[in-house]
Amino acid sequence: MGFKTVHEECDILVVGAGMGGTGAAYEARYWGRDLKIVVAEKANIDRSGAVAQGLYAINCYMGMRWDENQPEDHVRYARNDLMGMVREDLAYDMARHVDSTVHQFEEWGLPIMRDPETGRYQREGKWQIMIHGESYKPLVAEAARNSADKIYNRIMVTHLLMDESTPNRVGGAIGFNVRTGDLHVFKAKAVIVGAGGASHIYKPRAVGEGMGRTWYAPWSSASAYALPIQAGAKMTQMENRIVLCRFKDGYGPVGAYFLHLKTYTQNAYGEEYESKWYDELKEMVGPYVDHHPTPTCLRNHAFLREVAVGRGPIHMVTKEAFQDPHKETVGWENFLGMTVGQAVVWASQDIDPKYINPELTTSEPYVMGSHATCSGAWASGPEDVSPDEYYWGYNRMMTVEGLFGAGDALGGTAHAFSSGSFTEGRLAAKAAVKYVKDHANDKLSVSDKQVEDLKERIYKPLENYQVGRNEIVAGTVSPSYILPIHGLQRLEKIMDEYAGGITVNYMCNEPLLKRGLEHLRILHEDLEHLGAEDLHQLQRAWELKHRAIASECVIHHTLFREETRWPGYYYRGDHPHLDDDNWHALTVSHRDPESGEWTMEKAAVYHIVE
Ligand SMILES: Cc1cc2nc3c(=O)[nH]c(=O)nc-3n(C[C@H](O)[C@H](O)[C@H](O)COP(=O)(O)OP(=O)(O)OC[C@H]3O[C@@H](n4cnc5c(N)ncnc54)[C@H](O)[C@@H]3O)c2cc1C
Repeated sequence: MGFKTVHEECDILVVGAGMGGTGAAYEARYWGRDLKIVVAEKANIDRSGAVAQGLYAINCYMGMRWDENQPEDHVRYARNDLMGMVREDLAYDMARHVDSTVHQFEEWGLPIMRDPETGRYQREGKWQIMIHGESYKPLVAEAARNSADKIYNRIMVTHLLMDESTPNRVGGAIGFNVRTGDLHVFKAKAVIVGAGGASHIYKPRAVGEGMGRTWYAPWSSASAYALPIQAGAKMTQMENRIVLCRFKDGYGPVGAYFLHLKTYTQNAYGEEYESKWYDELKEMVGPYVDHHPTPTCLRNHAFLREVAVGRGPIHMVTKEAFQDPHKETVGWENFLGMTVGQAVVWASQDIDPKYINPELTTSEPYVMGSHATCSGAWASGPEDVSPDEYYWGYNRMMTVEGLFGAGDALGGTAHAFSSGSFTEGRLAAKAAVKYVKDHANDKLSVSDKQVEDLKERIYKPLENYQVGRNEIVAGTVSPSYILPIHGLQRLEKIMDEYAGGITVNYMCNEPLLKRGLEHLRILHEDLEHLGAEDLHQLQRAWELKHRAIASECVIHHTLFREETRWPGYYYRGDHPHLDDDNWHALTVSHRDPESGEWTMEKAAVYHIVE
């Protein structure tokens, strides 16, 4: 098809440069002055990833220099919010380093608001500090650009390459330029995946003309999971999908409203409703219902039940707070700094929150590892804190040798957010540099055959289209291919109906999940016949394939965990209670890269913090 092949050899390859990836590039240079560090990013690092539009708060800052919080406190907080299920070693390791990351952001020019009385950073909540964050991403991108030898923008990485001389060792990555179509082959001694989370695996609330609008970035296409899964890396907690309570239609964030503006919610009749569901929740989850702060999923549960019995919609009471001109300004600025779309939605729907209490809704589920959720790859922890079972030589290295991860890519590390993801990138990079130096004499072997086979697969959707379009019967319909949008909508429908999406009020059970897997098997067969009419559609095709692999993993995990651990995120109708006797454990999956067979196991949860 006339595309060039561009070869690059390096020591460390960073795949995806959002918060985790930019942190990795920066830190890799610090420890690896003499190493060759390369970044491959699907978009352009200046405005890529979940933080692209900017943020109004950094959600993870201890404030150790002012004795505000200690890392142990954050581990307790994350553990509580995730109903006991986190990797405490990874969480502690991130928390003890995150403050230094934030201080660096400030040195690099990020405006962090200060409390005029104390001179400390302005707190939005116990863990959050407020920033003027429109320039957040360009700023960390600059640090990465100054650190890496080369940044390749517009490269959609489709597969990891494997070293053929050592079993289970990564050898680089391969993908294509979404603008030129050129094939890019990166041979690397270590790879750090920071490719973000997964939206659009479940049918979104916003469909039709609003389809691109989701809470989680629509370009977060599950590559962070599919790349390691295809390479045989183990995953953890993939059932722990997140459902967010957000402002309706614009998915605008509620954190600053609750924490800073002190707004609150009520049902359609102006009543407080959370307490009504206390007894039911207590019966489902036992003492967890009394934990403080109330875990995110449990707050969702009360919301969902109140709406299900016909007392919705739920409103955010803004009318009181917005009478204060300062709070009114903060409320609007909060959106203008990170979710402009919500302000536009309100304007278009004649909602002035000073006079009308806006509606809230719960989102479709997303898969990610850095928010109030902890899905992702099963990785080694740090040497000094991790129990033996969690430690295999290099911090943040997955179960594939030389393959590291950060941010949403890694499992078990909830509540890292933007600053914690950048910190994880730094930690992964430090370990990756050590890995490269320890293996300085190893010779990687990535054969031409491996590359040629993948090249054929990568471009196949273009060929499918070229051949199949001769058979078009009407409009764009051909009996020989399906288009990425059709495959995506089918995937979303399967996940929605069979794996606990919005249509079924987040409910599933074993028969549904098993049927969902059968549907996914057939979908995978059909995805071999994806047709891409241009390079943009080729990108869509590979994003869809990544989403489909991650979805399969989500269903296997959901099926394996026979309890309802996180009511409000999803429910197992056949196991409606939390079951600490049998399931106070992390779930770990492995997909055999040859056979595609999945195996599931439990891993112990170690509470290393009292
Ligand atoms: C709506 C929203 C609001 C948030 N609000 C806050 C907040 O207020 N405060 C806060 O601290 N945190 C917030 N977060 C969380 C924060 O944004 C994430 O924790 C953080 O961005 C995760 O970092 P990451 O590196 O894992 O992913 P990202 O930052 O999303 O980066 C992933 C990168 O990988 C690239 N990529 C994806 N696939 C490929 C591929 N196949 N090949 C190459 N590149 C690829 C993407 O283009 C992107 O650049 C919010 C997140 C969302 C979605």
